[in-house]
Amino acid sequence: MTDELQSPLQYVKGVGPRRASDLASAGFHVLEDLLLRLPLRYEDRDRVKPIAQLGAGDLTAVVGEILACGVRPTRRRGFRVLEAVVADASGRIRAVYFNQPFLADVLAPGSRVALFGRVERGRTGGGLQLTNPAYELLAADAEDDARIHTGRIVPVYEKAGGVASKAMRRIVHAGLELLPPAVADPLPPEVCREHGLVDRRTALLHAPFPAPGTSLEDLARCRTPAQRRLVFEEFFLFQLGLALRRRATAATRKPRTIRVDERIRRAALDVLPFRLTGDQRRALKEIVGDLTDERPMNRLLQGDVGSGKTIVALLAALVAMENGLQVAVMSPTELLAEQHHLNIARILGPARFDVVLLTGALAARARREAWERLAAGRAQLAVGTHALMQDAVRFRELGLVIIDEQHRFGVIQRAALRRKGVQPDVLVMTATPIPRTLALTAYGDLDVSVIRELPPGRQPVATRVATEGRRREVYEFVRRQLRAGRQGYVVYPLVEESGKMDLKAATEMARHLAADVFPEFRVGLVHGRMKADERDAIMTTFGAGDTDLLVATTVIEVGIDVANATVMVVEHAERFGLAQLHQLRGRVGRGPHRACCILLHQGRLSEAAAARLDAVAATGDGFEIAERDLEIRGPGDFFGTRQSGMPTLRVGDLLRDHAIMDEARRAAHAWLALDPPRPALDAMVAGWAERFGLVGVG
Ligand code: ADP
Ligand code: MG
Repeated sequence: MTDELQSPLQYVKGVGPRRASDLASAGFHVLEDLLLRLPLRYEDRDRVKPIAQLGAGDLTAVVGEILACGVRPTRRRGFRVLEAVVADASGRIRAVYFNQPFLADVLAPGSRVALFGRVERGRTGGGLQLTNPAYELLAADAEDDARIHTGRIVPVYEKAGGVASKAMRRIVHAGLELLPPAVADPLPPEVCREHGLVDRRTALLHAPFPAPGTSLEDLARCRTPAQRRLVFEEFFLFQLGLALRRRATAATRKPRTIRVDERIRRAALDVLPFRLTGDQRRALKEIVGDLTDERPMNRLLQGDVGSGKTIVALLAALVAMENGLQVAVMSPTELLAEQHHLNIARILGPARFDVVLLTGALAARARREAWERLAAGRAQLAVGTHALMQDAVRFRELGLVIIDEQHRFGVIQRAALRRKGVQPDVLVMTATPIPRTLALTAYGDLDVSVIRELPPGRQPVATRVATEGRRREVYEFVRRQLRAGRQGYVVYPLVEESGKMDLKAATEMARHLAADVFPEFRVGLVHGRMKADERDAIMTTFGAGDTDLLVATTVIEVGIDVANATVMVVEHAERFGLAQLHQLRGRVGRGPHRACCILLHQGRLSEAAAARLDAVAATGDGFEIAERDLEIRGPGDFFGTRQSGMPTLRVGDLLRDHAIMDEARRAAHAWLALDPPRPALDAMVAGWAERFGLVGVG
């Protein structure tokens, strides 16, 4: 059977070489590409009414011929009204467009059109008119055209590669004529039966051109049988590949297993500076369970800012090191790496392990020395940035890789670091709580441990939104905190492109605060353009309590830990993302004192910005914030890049269709459990990683 769905688009009626290359530029190469791109929305043009029967208030389509068309000036200057008169066999009606004079060229007398819109009683004369109706020119003779664009529920497409919605509709319609009577189905028949899925051909036909009477609400929610079937298909194949990938990882074995005995338990207790919370204990237990397993660990440790992931990871590191293995801890920034290094070295002090720091900032000699110590196995733990992944970095026996702040590292980097050991255990830490709706998909090849409980004594950070007009009050509030001996932050957004200007603003702000507002206090400034050692000096001073108020660009976003800091003012809060605001806020309230975060903005917020600020103020729960963030931004933005390991989907939507994803996941696992023949499996997931934009972890 030849596969018509793989026909190049030139074979579709109405697609010449020009259009084909336009479509190719938008990623449409073969018929299937076109058919699997569902419409943006649908419009009900089911009822084409004879013009004579129209009444005010009707939402309707009419089909007719343009008799006349012209622009009419109005008394309001600069305001132009275009009027077209359209007639069908039963009568005529005016179509009125405001301020679209160019339509005079489009709606030329003699052309056949389909109009779709609301019928209103015109202000002058009292006759009926269509106001700003959607219009489509129909080929003069083609009855066909009228059939495609009116008299039914029609798909509205996003413009793609210069091809507008209407042209797309015609192309899709023509493409559907190429569909053979039987279309091959990638889904096993028993799965289709079990989950009540319509056959693929029906789905492909009805998704773009729904049958009469289809519920518009179902269409909008992507819940018609046709849509559901196509989404399910995509998700099923995705989950199948994911399950196979997991299976392959599960089949690998570590060169030697890790043991935990009484001696190691005691060593862990010795370094432990406090009692672990219940969640920390549970996470640690899960991690140690993986460490002592013969298969390599592949686990995500997920927990809000300040939930205490570091100590858990460190105890895992200790277990590996007590077993004679080396550990690598990778951080996204130098500042964080340095902070981790200090922390780890301090906590491991009594444990006689040698810890090295490896960052790009290191002098050549120090770096070479660190390399040698790692290669010889004299150093047991390396903390660093990307510098850890360089070829020159060799370990004697790397057994555990810990990666902080996952979403900044791609899957590729994860793999690069992993290759420095022989099937090492991998623990990924993220402070961005991955919403439940995405966890399974985003990190489908990872097990997940979650810390939700905050360490004891931690109080939620009171968060207030304030406009510029209340700046004085805000300053007074800050002053009271500083007088009481607390410290504070004033945070400035530093946007990449306009970094210079913001930097100036931050610098100017620091000067103004020091000289005019808080002359009685010590005000410091730290920003991302500073050299690492300069920045460190400032942070150290602040940490020691020798600076009262620190003006900072978002370099303080992650990892800074000053318990005495109780107040944070975020300038231009509207420019920050939701997750970012939450991370920032986590810098205060890390000690016994009540903390407050004030989100200052300039007023006149966009709807999305207002929603963000309200969401941060409303809850301190990172998971809830993440869910809200996802709703406001959508999954694509949430993770940003392809690198994140999120699948690129063309039919389904992770957020809208997560219930289908769950179902597809269960279906894929159930079907795999039936032990289907290998060739069938291989065929189904051929090109899987490429199709979903996922890079193999290797
Ligand atoms: P995360 O990395 O998850 O943001 P950290 O590991 O940096 O959080 O921990 C935040 C702070 O809480 C640190 O100062 C840490 O020492 C402290 N901490 C962590 N766990 C506990 C605990 N169980 N009891 C008391 N303090 C804790
Ligand atoms: Mg941390």
